[in-house]
Amino acid sequence: MHALSESAIRGSFINASLRERQNLLLPPDFGSLDWERIDYLGWRDRKSPQLGYVVAELDGEPVGLLMRQAEARPRARAQCSWCEDVQLPNDVVLFTTKRAGAAGRKGDTLGTLVCAEFQCSANVRKRPTLAYVGFDLDAERERRITALREHVAGFVRNAKSER
Ligand SMILES: [Zn+2]
Repeated sequence: MHALSESAIRGSFINASLRERQNLLLPPDFGSLDWERIDYLGWRDRKSPQLGYVVAELDGEPVGLLMRQAEARPRARAQCSWCEDVQLPNDVVLFTTKRAGAAGRKGDTLGTLVCAEFQCSANVRKRPTLAYVGFDLDAERERRITALREHVAGFVRNAKSER
C-alpha cells in the first residue's frame, strides 16, 4: 500500500470519534514500516488490548476502522477471513466494527475472523509448505496478495456503506 502520514491515518477513520482518533497510539514500528510489503495497516492498541485498528486503501483513499475484539472466542483453530492462511500460524479472533454513520451510532456492527495481531500481510508472503516441483511460488504469492487486498477492501466497503 502507499505510505501514509500520521495525520492521514488519524483522519482516515470512519467509525471512530474525534477523541478516539486523537487518542489512538500508532504502531510501535510506525517509523520503520515497509509499506510495500503490507496490504493493509493493522495493529492493536497498547493501552486498550481489546481494540485494534485497520487502515486500508479503498479507491485510492485510506479508510480506517476501529475494531473491537469480541468476548466470544472462535472455535479452536479458526481460519482468518482475510488472508485465509491454511497453516493457521497465529491466533485468529473475532473482531467487530461499527458501521459508519447513523447505522453505527445505532449499534449496527460487522464481524469478521482476523489474525489476532493482523499478521495477514506476512502470512500471504510466506513460502507455502505444499510447494511441489513445478509449483509456481511467485504466482501463488501474487494470487494470495490479491485475494487479501480484495477481502479487506470488501470488508471496509461494507462497513463504509450507508444503509
Ligand atoms: Zn489473516
